[in-house]
Amino acid sequence: MPEPEPEISVSAACMACPPELEAEAPQPPAIPVERPAFRRLRVFAFDPSLSSQLDNAALNHVTLRVPWEVDPRTGEDSLGSGPVGEYLEVVDFDPGSGCFYAPVDLSHRYLLARDGLDPSEGNPQFHQQMVYAVAMTTLHNFERALGRVALWADRAPEPEGAPGALRYASKPEEAFVQRLRLYPHALREANAYYHPGKKALLFGYFPAPTQDVHRHLPGGLVFTCLSHDIIAHETTHALLDGMHRRFNEPSNPDTLAFHEAFADIVALFQHFSFPEVLKHQIARTRGDLASENLLGQLAQQFGNATGVHGALRDSLGAWSRESGRWEPAIPDPAALETVFEPHARGSILVAAVFDTFVSIYRSRIADLLRIATNGTGILPAGALHPDLVDRLAREAAKSARHVLNMCIRALDYCPPIDLTFGEYLRALITADFDLVSDDDWGYRVAVVEAFRRRGIYPRDVRSLSVDSLRWQGQTGRDFKPLFFPVVRRLDSLVGGWDLASRRRSIHKQLWYARGRLHEDWRKSGTAWKEQKLLGIEMADKNDRFEIHSLRPARRNGPDGETRIDLIVEVTQKKPGYYSPFAQAENDALPLAKRALGDFEFRGGATLIVDLETSRLRYAIRKRISDADRLARQRAFLQDDPGSSLHALYLAGQLASSPFALLHRAGL
Ligand SMILES: [Zn+2]
Repeated sequence: MPEPEPEISVSAACMACPPELEAEAPQPPAIPVERPAFRRLRVFAFDPSLSSQLDNAALNHVTLRVPWEVDPRTGEDSLGSGPVGEYLEVVDFDPGSGCFYAPVDLSHRYLLARDGLDPSEGNPQFHQQMVYAVAMTTLHNFERALGRVALWADRAPEPEGAPGALRYASKPEEAFVQRLRLYPHALREANAYYHPGKKALLFGYFPAPTQDVHRHLPGGLVFTCLSHDIIAHETTHALLDGMHRRFNEPSNPDTLAFHEAFADIVALFQHFSFPEVLKHQIARTRGDLASENLLGQLAQQFGNATGVHGALRDSLGAWSRESGRWEPAIPDPAALETVFEPHARGSILVAAVFDTFVSIYRSRIADLLRIATNGTGILPAGALHPDLVDRLAREAAKSARHVLNMCIRALDYCPPIDLTFGEYLRALITADFDLVSDDDWGYRVAVVEAFRRRGIYPRDVRSLSVDSLRWQGQTGRDFKPLFFPVVRRLDSLVGGWDLASRRRSIHKQLWYARGRLHEDWRKSGTAWKEQKLLGIEMADKNDRFEIHSLRPARRNGPDGETRIDLIVEVTQKKPGYYSPFAQAENDALPLAKRALGDFEFRGGATLIVDLETSRLRYAIRKRISDADRLARQRAFLQDDPGSSLHALYLAGQLASSPFALLHRAGL
């Protein structure tokens, strides 16, 4: 019997080789391909309307490098259609039309090969790509500055059968918010906001007015989800809320204004990370970034379409009705006495920070200008040499990154409640001192000077020197018995608290550590005097207080080594009364017997504890026994009973009140 012919499938074998050779040929080893760290996605640098202003429309298209998302449990790629990733979930439902737009799949190989979809106003899938890419970039900047993963604010669940009521979650699983939701087409109006109750960013769209054909298509649609600045601004509200939940309580004129200012600062300084745009603007302004330029302006299309005659907000100047031109703003040290609307008041702080940036940039380029001008410092007429533009752009980008990092890191040095601009100044100075102890470039002096010009300083310091503005250290006190157990408990967690950690498990461990610290604190019998040092004041041991937040912060040690601090925020509250008489009467009673107050008055402290030694480094206190502060809060809340701030506070709607981009009355 002849042996049967081996069966060969024609398609699988090489026709040129005899079958035995084919079988013996060694298989080439698979070459491992490393996973990229970033995903490249194209977006509008500003918004669609800028394409005509940037001479070359291509300049308004930038490619962002967005962190490549990986599931920390499985190690697999984790960005799904939507996009839905570890931090964000884009939900494209348009309630106006009842329409769900098909979600974009950014992991499709054709889209990976071409850096995502082309920027386009008319393609809803590009809108999804843009909100995702800009929100992730903002988040990444935050995480990089703080050296830890970002957590969204905890969810306050509704009790069953009580719609609208909120309660504290009793378990970490109930409170943890994995993803912030982004709705690119949520509203048919000229607005966009962060909704703290829904943990969502809602973006609106609206028809452009028909009369002004200058910068947008008359009657065309303006999409807030296509504005880099609006997306970055709203994402920052959510990030700030994740760190400082009480910063949305208007207990003084600065608190809500700070939320707005900070969101604007992050959006503004991200402009400097687009190299081509930066070079273009440096060439156009001949290196003078204090003159009118796109980098210092926010939300141009939105501003124009809502009748602002230019950007929605401009940190450098404004369009003047009298002259019909853009004019530089002159710092007004008395403005804080008269401007109270949160966005407008916030702009004063933004301008101070932008001024800081401009002086840092100027001092960094002084030598370049001397070289370029043979020492005269006066640039000859005509276009700048492209090499000089490149070098100036590099210095501008560096200065901007430094200022943005400084602003973000200062959040760890703020009191947990009732923040004022002056205290933020102190936080900025202290955070920068902890990061870079010598100030060779004079950055901290630049900060103080810029803030002074805008009338921003704390009420309780005697001089505006950098030293007196720094929070005073607590070198002498040792609270080891109180902090050590919780520090030990968190040690392993903190060591692994890097950008690849599992946020859910971090959240859970911190939740239980907060509970443990609260227990220890209550039991420790820490003497009355020491409680006061730590920012908590209790009349009896049944008084309640809260370990509001616990998180690690990295800093550089004196020899350049990385050290980790533990940030402990502790808060307490008591009923406040409009009548000082009722206040005095109720304050004398035990807390349980006091009448319901007209408002809540909070106190507390941010404690910065060295993780290695458990020693207290700083205690940034706002005392609950501070009668002057109570009187100021009372006056502030009573000042204008019809104001929206007042209504918000009293209605107790803060958990669900949106941070609108603009007050509707302003439109
Ligand atoms: Zn806002």
